[in-house]
Amino acid sequence: MERKLNLILLGAPGAGKGTQAELISARYGIPAISTGQIIREEIASGSELGEAVKSYTSKGELVPDSVVIDIIKARLAKDDCENGFILDGFPRTVPQAAALDEMGVCITDVISIEVADEDIMTRMSGRRVCKKCGATYHVKYKPSPAGENCGVCGEPLTIRADDDPAVVKSRLEIYHAQTEPLKEFYDQKGLLKIVYGQEKLEDTTALTAAALEG
Ligand code: AMP
Repeated sequence: MERKLNLILLGAPGAGKGTQAELISARYGIPAISTGQIIREEIASGSELGEAVKSYTSKGELVPDSVVIDIIKARLAKDDCENGFILDGFPRTVPQAAALDEMGVCITDVISIEVADEDIMTRMSGRRVCKKCGATYHVKYKPSPAGENCGVCGEPLTIRADDDPAVVKSRLEIYHAQTEPLKEFYDQKGLLKIVYGQEKLEDTTALTAAALEG
């Protein structure tokens, strides 16, 4: 049996957190929780919360801490998190990380997937997502077995509005200013491991698996 994992994946938008989260989720049988995906579902459903956060997300800005903290609090309270979980895209600011501590959430591992900004810009232009089930693909690095449709549910794949190059550039700036300090935050707790994202998905997967085992 695998050890219990309460894992945080850090990394710039497009570094491959979502893909690694899905793979680790399948391997350990624990949920991968993406605040970005939860927010996109809220927006798609037209809920009050979705309407309130839409303007931030479409511009690539961070949603206010209090909103995402409430989202994650509710999600981590669900039964399926009892045996572990993977956080993909949360925390993204130091106050969000502090909120996890205040909730009494015990994080066992933090992995930061590092990819140079120039490579992120190239990668993002090929990213495709399924709006229905949330599966993510890349035209070059992780093509869907169903071509332009989702390999899981068959829905036509779409490009996220915030993957537009100008928006990506500003998301990278926000990442460096607000999220990157979390590396220091978790390094001081002795939890941080760095994985250098590779061009080939399977190479990054192998390095991530080694970081979790080592
Ligand atoms: P992602 O799919 O993780 O790239 O998230 C997409 C968008 O959702 C981000 O650009 C933010 O607008 C919002 N978002 C997701 N997670 C967070 C978070 N932890 N804090 C603030 N905003 C977030």
